[in-house]
Amino acid sequence: MTVPSAPCLVTCEHASREVPARWRPLFAGHEELLASHRGWDPGSRELGEALARRLGCALFVAATSRLLVELNRSPGHPELFSELTRELPEAERTALLEEHYFPYRHGVETAVAERTADGGPPCLHLSAHSFTPVWEGRCREVDVGLLFDPARPRETAFCRRWRDLLEHRRPDLAVRFNEPYLGVDDGLTTHLRGRFPDERYLGIELAGGAAWAALRRDLVEACDEAARSLA
Ligand SMILES: [Zn+2]
Repeated sequence: MTVPSAPCLVTCEHASREVPARWRPLFAGHEELLASHRGWDPGSRELGEALARRLGCALFVAATSRLLVELNRSPGHPELFSELTRELPEAERTALLEEHYFPYRHGVETAVAERTADGGPPCLHLSAHSFTPVWEGRCREVDVGLLFDPARPRETAFCRRWRDLLEHRRPDLAVRFNEPYLGVDDGLTTHLRGRFPDERYLGIELAGGAAWAALRRDLVEACDEAARSLA
């Protein structure tokens, strides 16, 4: 018997290191920065695609580098713009927001609203990221981070189930909650939690480290199994 999945969507805020031609002069001499983890999350698109395929749901993929405008920060946050765009005239920063930020953020928010409009099961939003295993000279002892709000019972239960299923498949992995970042830090899922209550929305960020590509299949299968318990 096929158990239906809960309504869901997958997003990749840091999938791209592209910079549209109009803004490229700002990045002259900063090619290394753009190619680094500061510019994008390598592997996050592939993970997002695999999750969306398995769960049979919509996928939102950022088209531009986070160094242009950071889709995972709220308006007014000091990291919304990077050191390459922060000093731009206000009209140009507004253009960046209107062309590359709000369409993405509003698109995701509308998709969540649509998926929860009928009062059925909550919408599961998975936001795929990757992190560099070495940060500021220290090696991070985490293979997979599941980031959520511990005050939201559904998010907590879902992540526990996902972790248990993943560890059952891959006992070698270090799966951590709210590492290397906190799920309640400013971000797209945190913003959406403010719009949708626990009964309607689960916002989970998923961050993979070095072992990434090799564990993608197990990660996706465990997620699919955990998601079925929401329906
Ligand atoms: Zn990221």
